Order: sequence, then structure tokens, then C-alpha cells
Amino acid sequence: MNDASSRPTLVTTVDQLRRAVAAARADGRSIGLAPTMGALHEGHLSLVRASKAECGVTVVSIFVNPSQFGPGEDLAAYPRDLDADLDKLAECGADLVFAPDNEEMYGEGHATWVDVGSVARPLEGECRPTHFRGVATVVLKLLNMVGPDRAYFGEKDYQQARVIRRMVADLDVPTVIRVCPIVREADGLAMSSRNAYLDVDARRQAAILWKSLCLADELVSQGERDPRTIVRRMREMIESAEDARLDYVALVDPDTLEPIERIEGPVLAALAVRIGATRLIDNRLLKM
Ligand code: AMP
Repeated sequence: MNDASSRPTLVTTVDQLRRAVAAARADGRSIGLAPTMGALHEGHLSLVRASKAECGVTVVSIFVNPSQFGPGEDLAAYPRDLDADLDKLAECGADLVFAPDNEEMYGEGHATWVDVGSVARPLEGECRPTHFRGVATVVLKLLNMVGPDRAYFGEKDYQQARVIRRMVADLDVPTVIRVCPIVREADGLAMSSRNAYLDVDARRQAAILWKSLCLADELVSQGERDPRTIVRRMREMIESAEDARLDYVALVDPDTLEPIERIEGPVLAALAVRIGATRLIDNRLLKM
């Protein structure tokens, strides 16, 4: 077990990964998995720490998954820095890093895709129609490769976590899914690898996502029960940032992600905003 400061073992093939995991299992250790696309920040590292607290061995996958990017999205530009990632993972004591290339992950003739159904359709699913099919497929592959006791995801990608919980339940995957709180910058911006795209001015404007989620929370605690009023106020606030373009803002049922007619219990506020060319998402659970 890696207690800190030595670099984790790096493997790049499924065969090496399975051997390393089998050795840990033979030692009687439980396995935790944190799937990532790299360019690691404190949000990712919080998943690693959660795994370290509960599991004997922590595996981190780093793979920029092409099948979850649509045409014209930022696959080629997506930040990649394996060396820096390994240093960060050494600091928080991750044991094993799996960083395959595309050929290793998607063998020739790959043709099987996971379609998770209704929870994958609204919000991100509407804007990025093939996104969750790519996410669910790669996550199921990783779960099959590693066979972890627990896998760790962030609430930052709230819908993704719902999609994965649905898939794991429906396909009888014997892994417990843990979802960890969103780690934010001092001004509330949710940490994201994509924040690296923001220049100083865009970075300043990006705080509007969190500000609008706080406004929604405030309106609900003041007694507002009409989701349309809250969405309108959030939209007005976001559109006041000069380079912000709204993809969507919605108040939805936290379980089904369907729109709600009236606020009668906990509700999820979710949004996607472009600041210039950078697309950012965030969400907050609003409580009455
Ligand atoms: P990504 O590398 O963007 O695919 O993210 C890998 C995992 O880290 C996903 O489960 C994300 O939800 C999670 N994650 C990303 N950003 C954050 C954050 N700011 N706080 C908590 N978890 C995060």
C-alpha cells in the first residue's frame, strides 16, 4: 500500500492491470477505483482520498475517452499531463494508475455500447446526444477490468453519477458506487480540468455559474415554489456576464432528472454555460 509521496505503479495494458489487481486481492485487500480523464485537480484527488479511507488499494484510471466526445467538441484540445498527474497521485497515496491508449481500450472491431435509458436523456443528454453512451460504456469496461469493491465519482457530474448508478443496478455490477461532494475554488467555481481553458477575464466571469446556483437556493429558502420564476432569475443573472451563453438551466427531480412543476421537496438545479468557447457545468441540490 502506498502511504504517500512514492509514485503509484503505472500500468498501460489490461493484462498488467488485472495482474496487479489480482496480487492485491491475493493479499486480502479491498479495491477502490476512481475513473478520471486526467489533468487532475483537487476534485479528482478528493475521490482518491475517499477511496484511500475505505479501500486497501486505490486504482486511478486516466483515459481521455474519445467515445464520450461529440463531433466538434474538445477531444484534441483536452488537457493531458500524465507526469504531473502521477506527482499529484503520489502525494495522496494512490497505489495503481491505469493509463491505456485508445487501442488498448477499444480493440479492433469494438461494437458494443451501453444505452442507459431515460436518466441519460435530458440535460447533458439533450445537448450531447452520444455522451452518456460513451461514458457508460467506458465505465462498465473499467469496472469489468478492475472488479473494484467500490468506485468513486463526483457530484460535479451529477447526471453521470445517476447514469452509472442506474447501469450498475440494471446490469448487476457487484461494485458499490460512491458519489463525493463537489470541490470548489474560493469563488465557488467547481473545479474542472476545463477551467484551464479560461483566460483571466473568462475565469472571472465563470463565477456566475455558482452565483446563479446560490441565487436559486436563496429564492427557495425565501419561499419561492415556482421553478419557472427561479429559472428566469438564474437565466437573467447568467446572461448579465458578457461572454456567457446558456446551454440550459433547469430545476429537476434529483432522482429522475425530469422537470418539476412545483417545488415540494428537494430539487436539483443544473446548468451548462459557455464562457466564450469553454463549456462548463455545475449543479446544486436545493432544499426547502
Ligand atoms: P473527469 O476527469 O472530468 O472525467 O472527472 C473524473 C471524476 O472526477 C468524475 O467522477 C467527476 O465527477 C469527478 N470530479 C471532477 N471535478 C470534480 C469536482 N470539482 N469535485 C468533485 N468531483 C469532481
